[in-house]
Amino acid sequence: MIRDGDRVAVAFSGGKDSFTLLEALLLLARRAPVRFTVCAFTIEQGKFLRPIEPLGEWVRSRGVDWTYYRDNASHRLLDEQPEHGCDLCSRYRRRAVYEVVRSLGANTIAFGHTGDDFVESFLRNAMFTGRLSALPPVTLSSNGDFRLIRPLCFVKEEITRAWAEQSGAPIVPCGCSQKTGTVRGKLRDLFADLEREHPHLRETMLSAMGNLQPGRLLDPRFLDPALTGGAPPEAKAAEELFPIFMEP
Ligand code: SF4
Repeated sequence: MIRDGDRVAVAFSGGKDSFTLLEALLLLARRAPVRFTVCAFTIEQGKFLRPIEPLGEWVRSRGVDWTYYRDNASHRLLDEQPEHGCDLCSRYRRRAVYEVVRSLGANTIAFGHTGDDFVESFLRNAMFTGRLSALPPVTLSSNGDFRLIRPLCFVKEEITRAWAEQSGAPIVPCGCSQKTGTVRGKLRDLFADLEREHPHLRETMLSAMGNLQPGRLLDPRFLDPALTGGAPPEAKAAEELFPIFMEP
């Protein structure tokens, strides 16, 4: 994920995962076979439930530059459409992230998504968008300017939670974390329930994402054309063949 000479900007949201990510990257920078530098930034979209100055103090105490950016466009969105969804919010954040990271001279952006986020995203996409996909662990920004990495993709949140508690990190919660009745919350409840009997459910799902058997799925692009009546590899995907199953 990280290459020699990279300047890695950590998207520092103030949650337990971003604290863990920053600390892990600082440890890695000391022992990795490649040389890279780390900086951190926080985008304020009007959803923090506490003052965020302690975040900056904590980051700087680790010898890392911290940049704070108040995104006025997100604040206007919050005023005008308080019930806006995650799609819109993330779009605004993405634009702000690229603007800030460009000013930091970084070429790589590290996000704190954990293995739990991958698993939830995988289920959400399968159930609500009709796609088998989760989050890209490594990819390029849409304009190709930045590499986007998610180094915690195999880390469970019980680890980030434990680390944040032990380290005394000044967590700043996001207002969205208090919402009830969300799909994310329901999936978490489902996992908590199932994991009482099957404690390694999320690890198994993470393994499954790295162990595809496309011949046992329904995407004709990955089936043997000789067996499916000659469908070419560029044949329509299942979502085009079975649109009735797809939610908008
Ligand atoms: S959970 Fe809240 S902060 Fe996160 S993307 Fe959705 S609306 Fe934005």
